[in-house]
Amino acid sequence: MAEAMIRSRNPGSNERGRHGRMRIDTNTGLLEGVRQVGSPNCDERPAGVPVSLLVIHNISLPPGEFGGHWIDALFTNTLDPAAHPYFRTIAGQRVSAHLLIRRDGEVVQYVPFHRRAWHAGRSCFRGRECCNDFSIGIELEGCDELPYEAVQYERLIALTRSLMACYPAIGPGRIVGHSDIAPGRKSDPGPAFDWERYLGALRDGACTG
Ligand SMILES: [Zn+2]
Repeated sequence: MAEAMIRSRNPGSNERGRHGRMRIDTNTGLLEGVRQVGSPNCDERPAGVPVSLLVIHNISLPPGEFGGHWIDALFTNTLDPAAHPYFRTIAGQRVSAHLLIRRDGEVVQYVPFHRRAWHAGRSCFRGRECCNDFSIGIELEGCDELPYEAVQYERLIALTRSLMACYPAIGPGRIVGHSDIAPGRKSDPGPAFDWERYLGALRDGACTG
């Protein structure tokens, strides 16, 4: 199952593998063929802790608006607090995620997978706190109440397959929403996210869900 997904010896190709999987360079922790924007908001994972959880988020800046470079700016600590009233409330935050899937399907990587991104905050999964230590965070450009785009599901499903192949401790029961690990504090990815469409596609082996 892993042959088409894990390929560290032949970097440089943007081709997707079978079933639309995306290739991860296991040496660098980077996805091949996607836009890379390095975020300083990351650090080392605790030693000996395998990556074993996938956390789905949403983000839109300003809230409810799509497009623009604001998410890149937030994750690189260059968000101009004067550009929008909402930005003043978040400009000092030091946050990141490993990946963003934009409305048009573009995938952006901010943090290598073997490093700890700062996406979950105060969080708990099955009694274990500090989910950033052992998770990968994927942001969908969106908001809780608005349907996500079909291409976002397609990319998310392909990415999830690649990540599960690289990090086998991410089992089917270890894919959660931010709201699941920070209930009452976070609501994303929200009721608009179609979990059955996503998890069903992973179960079925379908390409696009
Ligand atoms: Zn979130």
